Amino acid sequence: MAELRCSGCGRALQKGGLKYIIEIKSFADFDGYLEEYPGDVREGIDELLDAIENVNPESLEEDVYMERTYILCKPCRDRFSDNPFNAAEPLAQGELSKGTLH
Ligand SMILES: [Zn+2]
Repeated sequence: MAELRCSGCGRALQKGGLKYIIEIKSFADFDGYLEEYPGDVREGIDELLDAIENVNPESLEEDVYMERTYILCKPCRDRFSDNPFNAAEPLAQGELSKGTLH
């Protein structure tokens, strides 16, 4: 079996050692709002179908739903948990989620 390496720092992960699986799922959100199509709807659908035909089905699917799995060592997991999006100024824990999460 190939040697397991941390997706973050590349360090070899020891058999039986502490390691973490990070699963990321992202899917397109729909807020219920549909913009009114400015022209003829039938022409719009034809244009859309033409456009879809020229797009790689995999990338089309990834536009809607994407799933990624990573394996991390503890320091990388901790860093990721504190600031998953590598933001310049990580939000203090719980600051923004107050009042939105129940
Ligand atoms: Zn690491």
